[in-house]
Amino acid sequence: MAFMLPVHISNSVDQIKVIGARVTVVNLRNNVILVDTGFKGSLGLIKSGLTRLGLSLEQVSTIVLTHYHPDHFGSLEKVVAATSASVAVHESEVGIIEGSEKTPSPFANPLLRSVTAPFIRFTAGGPVRVKHQLRDDSYIPGSEDVRIIHTPGHTAGSISLLIESEKVLIVGDALQNRFNRISGPSKLVTRNYATALRSLRKLLDFDFEVICFSHFRPIYGDAHSVLKAWLDTQET
Ligand SMILES: [Zn+2]
Ligand SMILES: [Zn+2]
Repeated sequence: MAFMLPVHISNSVDQIKVIGARVTVVNLRNNVILVDTGFKGSLGLIKSGLTRLGLSLEQVSTIVLTHYHPDHFGSLEKVVAATSASVAVHESEVGIIEGSEKTPSPFANPLLRSVTAPFIRFTAGGPVRVKHQLRDDSYIPGSEDVRIIHTPGHTAGSISLLIESEKVLIVGDALQNRFNRISGPSKLVTRNYATALRSLRKLLDFDFEVICFSHFRPIYGDAHSVLKAWLDTQET
């Protein structure tokens, strides 16, 4: 199917399926934030998804990346050019997004990483200026309802976002929900799995009911207890 309907998450949150990932749309009183942008070539799907939601690219104020992997960052340059949005990423990944640092290969295995390194630039997004350098325990500028939680491990600058008023947690790739079973991030493309698990334990300090993933169906209602129950089965 060329186009899939957006996935409704909560009053202000929907997801659009694009190439290789889901783009999360947060619409707080007509202040529209996009979380991630999909692989290169996703702009058309983002545009038609926004139209389905009664929104337009021109309304997007901010684009937040959960991390620099090409399935999140690939279309950033095109989406920025089509909107007047400012870009927000964790402070440790600004150099990659702005192009002053090479985009690392996502693979955890050193051999796979070096073999794939020369090709990553073909899938990575083009350089884009970052307006907002995000830190742990802060808010998206202009969107005081959207809290940033630094959840390193999948990448050093991976972040999760909590829509506090709706108890919706957006985790990017920090968690998976494969075949409707929650699990940690993919070990194939996670730089430090032990750090990633520590980040997931930190998430339990927050009040959320729904988890949105970048590649899987959301968990509604009891997401906090689902995460806690799974973490209880994991060794530190
Ligand atoms: Zn990733
Ligand atoms: Zn991903």
